[in-house]
Amino acid sequence: MNHKPVFEVPAKTVVNFKSAFEHKKLCDGLTFSLGSACAFSCTFCYVPDLMRKLRELPGMAGVHGRHEDIVIRRRNALDVLKSQLVDRRGRPKFSDPQDRRVIFASPLVDVAANLELAKETAAACFIILHNTNWQIRLLSKSHLLPEIAKRIPEQWKNRIIYGVSTGTIDDAIGRAVEPGTPLVSKRLASLHWLQDSGHRTFGMICPSLPYADSDAFSTSACHAIRSYRCEHVWGEALNVRGESMTRTVRALEVAGHGELSERLAYVSADKYAWEDYARETFLAHSSNIPGDKLRFLQYTNPSTRMWWNGWVEDGAVLL
Ligand code: SF4
Repeated sequence: MNHKPVFEVPAKTVVNFKSAFEHKKLCDGLTFSLGSACAFSCTFCYVPDLMRKLRELPGMAGVHGRHEDIVIRRRNALDVLKSQLVDRRGRPKFSDPQDRRVIFASPLVDVAANLELAKETAAACFIILHNTNWQIRLLSKSHLLPEIAKRIPEQWKNRIIYGVSTGTIDDAIGRAVEPGTPLVSKRLASLHWLQDSGHRTFGMICPSLPYADSDAFSTSACHAIRSYRCEHVWGEALNVRGESMTRTVRALEVAGHGELSERLAYVSADKYAWEDYARETFLAHSSNIPGDKLRFLQYTNPSTRMWWNGWVEDGAVLL
């Protein structure tokens, strides 16, 4: 799948009812994931580091290869999902019409990395929409979200919110740091199709690199995603460290983006420069996006918290 070997592993759960993604305001604590290793291979992906410890678990016996080089799907994921939403007699457990919580997918894999996975995600959405009154937020680095939207019955159209990642809007930079993903321009075209077809959408300008001109980048990105048509827009500086940072710096250099690569290497080695980069990125976005729409994710520490606290009303989300 996407030139990677695929492993199917048994899983007890697909829905996580207590995810930390609530703090990022992406959902109300609910997430679902149909796999554990993505078909894409973004250089800055945090999931491989997160998942390394899982390789010790019994269900993972027989899974070979580095996390970033393989695809892991959850066996009978749709049956497992349904079993979490209904009781032993098949009655929905979350049938309260007032329960309009948002569930997010996916914290671990792309929901539409190819057509087969997009179809599986559509089937999962159908199960959730049929058995609950929840809303679903889907995020992808592909151009295939319309393939999901087309498979959702009209009556549930307004319960799904779609977004594509656009941490860069330059196809060449995207190709360097997000290997295997469709071009950002194709993703944007799919977002526009969703908007023009009356679907709910959100923006995800994450993670953005330390561009020389943050204001120009933010203005172009907001224009590209048509931020005025998005319900919310998330922003974030690149927060990865260690191996994924080294991979990203190197990928940019190899692809001929030497200046950007050097700037990233510089901010990653200097916490003050890093903080400046995050603040510049935030201030650029806050001049383009109203505070009640912007959700800029920022990890803070005791020495930076006071500054960020002063911008909460303008869209800073302190992690
Ligand atoms: S699409 Fe997301 S989960 Fe998949 S490799 Fe890229 S960052 Fe990781």
